Parts: sequence; structure tokens; C-alpha cells
Amino acid sequence: MPSQTVAQQRLLIKGGKVVNDDYSVAADVYVEDGVVQQVGPNLHPKPPTGLLVLDATNKLVIPGGIDTHTHMQFPFMGSRSKDDFYTGTKAAIAGGTTMIIDFAIPQKGCSLIEAFDTWKSWADPKVCCDYALHVGVTWWSNKVKEEMKSLVQSKGVNSFKMFMAYKDLYMVNDEELYEAFSQCKELGAIAQVHAENGELIAQGAKKMLAMGITGPEGHELCRPEEVEAEATQRAITIANVINCPLFVVHVMSKSAARVITNARREGKVVYGEPIAASLGTDGTNYWNKDWAHAAGHVMGPPLRPDPSTPDFLMNLLANDDLSVTGTDNCTFDTCQKALGKDDFTKIPNGVNGVEDRMSVVWEKGVYSGKMDENRFVAVTSTNAAKIFNLYPKKGRIAVGSDADIVIWDPKATRTISAQTHHQANNFNIFEGMVCHGVPVTTISRGKVVYEGGTFNVTAGEGRYVSRPPFPPYVYKRVRQRDQVCQPVPVKRAPYTDAVSATPITPQ
Ligand SMILES: [Zn+2]
Repeated sequence: MPSQTVAQQRLLIKGGKVVNDDYSVAADVYVEDGVVQQVGPNLHPKPPTGLLVLDATNKLVIPGGIDTHTHMQFPFMGSRSKDDFYTGTKAAIAGGTTMIIDFAIPQKGCSLIEAFDTWKSWADPKVCCDYALHVGVTWWSNKVKEEMKSLVQSKGVNSFKMFMAYKDLYMVNDEELYEAFSQCKELGAIAQVHAENGELIAQGAKKMLAMGITGPEGHELCRPEEVEAEATQRAITIANVINCPLFVVHVMSKSAARVITNARREGKVVYGEPIAASLGTDGTNYWNKDWAHAAGHVMGPPLRPDPSTPDFLMNLLANDDLSVTGTDNCTFDTCQKALGKDDFTKIPNGVNGVEDRMSVVWEKGVYSGKMDENRFVAVTSTNAAKIFNLYPKKGRIAVGSDADIVIWDPKATRTISAQTHHQANNFNIFEGMVCHGVPVTTISRGKVVYEGGTFNVTAGEGRYVSRPPFPPYVYKRVRQRDQVCQPVPVKRAPYTDAVSATPITPQ
């Protein structure tokens, strides 16, 4: 797509209510060159010719969603996730999301930079919206340490994810976590963790299989809530020793969410990311009699069988105990899931979410009365932009911001279904859910890319977005603490009396 076409489009969004995370105001929005130029009442940009006018009467005009957690075309568990960077980002814009942050994940022993370059080469020709990449740290060495530095300084990466689960594949131990967190801190990056105790999962899986439990329910039974809560607490403890900011991806349980909540109330710099799945459905599905239905919900950490979990997590999200929403979008169709038909440990882990996240959060969060429209914008876009240092280019509608904008109809409803969604998968974990809150028009960098069910987008139109280190939203407190909260030695007169002459050494 020639970039002039995008740049030349001039847009006027008229008559809507502009909603940012801090306040809402009736205003028009004028966009040129992919950037917001004016926000205010009754705008009449000159010249009037060549101007595309979008009527937003009775609608909300919100910053495009940022999905902090996706895995497009991810080679994983003997398969590759179904949504690639094309179908995945196309589905995203249909759902009102204009940026995703995916993960480049090297195998143990392999180069982080090569992984980054590989993922970028997959994404660049395919993406329909802007994107960035977190990078996985799956092993430790001086080379890894150096590569983290290069990624931050020359590749625009400011977040690294460490796995405490997936033993022998991605899992790192506490010493490696300590080293990786220390390097994140040094570089001004955000440390992210997949928080589950991988050793207990491995033992639990063996136990379930030995008991004859081979179906998807075994997936939850082998890694119950405390396995997630323990790792969450451990990661927070290690990060806090280093004064390194921590981001806990996919918060799935009440127990883990409570750990994060308590840590925040103790002043620790930690952020929790519930996902569309954990906010919109629950783990009772693993006990469904239909194997394909149950397997379709398998992801790690699992959804929890306590059906009050989604409500609980949404309340914490509404009240700032949890901070942002992602999806962990990593879709596998029924045929791929069937790799584990006789053994739940072989079911590829992953569910959908990138298309439905915004509507699910609106329905369960805003329509339910738990949060207002401004908090909705905060948890679907602004907070992610702040934490990952994209703000106010992303996550805000203001003069100078990227024109990633969604015209949102809070009154309209839609029913989620695999029959009508735009994802490549044949299954949807939110099947049949009726959601208030529908994206009518999605604008990416000033271009209308989706409107009323019709796409106007080409593969590769999205761009890679660099993220500088030391996001002020996260690091201001951290740096101040480093200056003033260091322990100092007690000043004493030297000890001058006798010292035992012969220290006893063990035989
Ligand atoms: Zn993930």
C-alpha cells in the first residue's frame, strides 16, 4: 500500500463524544497525515474538499485498543497457531484493536536477536495494524545479556518475558530470573513473567495421567490455582529485591490476582494483565462432555473452574488492582487440538480473544456497571501505552497522537460466534455471548480500515513501533527509590578488643 494514500486521507469525525482515560467531551476530531490535528467543537477544516466526514452522533470516539499479548503464527507444541499476522490483525481491527504486541520467543540456546528478526520478518509483510514485539528470555548466558542490551538499544524492544512454566522448553529457574530481572532493570525494560510453577505442573501431569485422567479436565487439575499464585508471589519477591518493575501476563485466578493486589498495596511496582478469556468465561468448560469443546478452552495457565472468577477479576480491573487487558490470542483449530485427544498434555495451549476483547470488556465491565467508559479506555488502551512507553502517541486522542481511533456504539449489540468472526479458527470460546458495545468504524494511522463490516486494508500496511526504554509511567518511582531507598552502613567506632585466635575449620 503506497504510504501517500494513507497520508493524504483527511478525516473529520463529527458529533461524537471523545473518550480518553481521564475525561469525556463532546468534540469533533480532525485527522491529517495519520495524526490527530484538532479536537474541539464544530470543526471546519480547510479546504472542505477532499475531506472524508464520519458521523459519530450518539457514538463514542475512543483510542484504538492495544492488545498487550498475542501469539500469531506461533510454532508451539508440535503445531503453529492458526491466526497469522494477517488474519490476526484483521480480526483485531474488526474488534476495535489497532495495535498488538506479540512475542518473539527463542528456543533455549538460541539467539534472541535472531528470534526477533524472524518474528519481524513474519509480521512485516502481513500486519494490518501497528505492532510491537516483546522478546522471550528462555535461557541465560552472557550472550543473552548482551543481546537484551542490543534489542533495547537498537531494535525498539522494552519488555522481556520469562517463563516459570514449560519445563525443559522455556522454563527458567530463580537464579536465571534474578539475572534477567537485573538486566531488565539496568536497561530500563519491563520484566514480564508467565507465572506458574513448572515443576509442580510436570509432577501434577504425571499424577493425573497415572490416575487415568487423560481429558482436558486433567489440564486444570494438574496446575490448580495455588501453582499460579505461588509463582506470582515468587516473581514479585525476586523483582522487588532488585527494584525491577514487573508485569504479570495472563492473570487467570483469584489467588494470583490477590497476590498482585496485595503487592500493589504494599507499594510494589507490579502490573497484572487479565485477558479476555479470564474475564469472559471460566474453567467449568474443561468438564464439558464434548471433548472438542473442552479442548478448545485449553490454555496455560488454565481458566479456573470457580465460576465467580471472571466477575472477581473484573472488579479488580475496575479498581486498578489489575492494570491492562490482553488476550494471549493463540488459536488452534479442533484438528490441531486433537494432537492431544488421548493425552491432555499434548493439546496445543491457546485460545482466541484478539477480535472480541473490547466487546467482552465492555459487556462484562461497562455494561455491568463495574467501570465507566474512561476506565474502559484505560484498561483496553491507555495503560498499555503508558507501561510500554507508547503514550501519548498511542492510547490517547489528542493533538499530535497517532490517529488510531474507533467509533464505538455503546448501545448496539452483537452475538459472538465462530460462524461470523474474522479469525482463522473454527472455534470461539465466547460462542453465543451477546455483547453490548460494537466497533462501528476502525481507523488506523488516519485511514478507515474497517467500517460496518467491510475491510479496506492490505497486508503489510501496519508498521513496527519502536518502544524506548525507561517508560516514565513505570520508572519514575523506580529511579527515585534507587536514589533514596538504599541501605547504608551504621557508623561505629572500630572494635578493638580481643579476637579469637584460631578459627575452627571443619574436619
Ligand atoms: Zn502467551
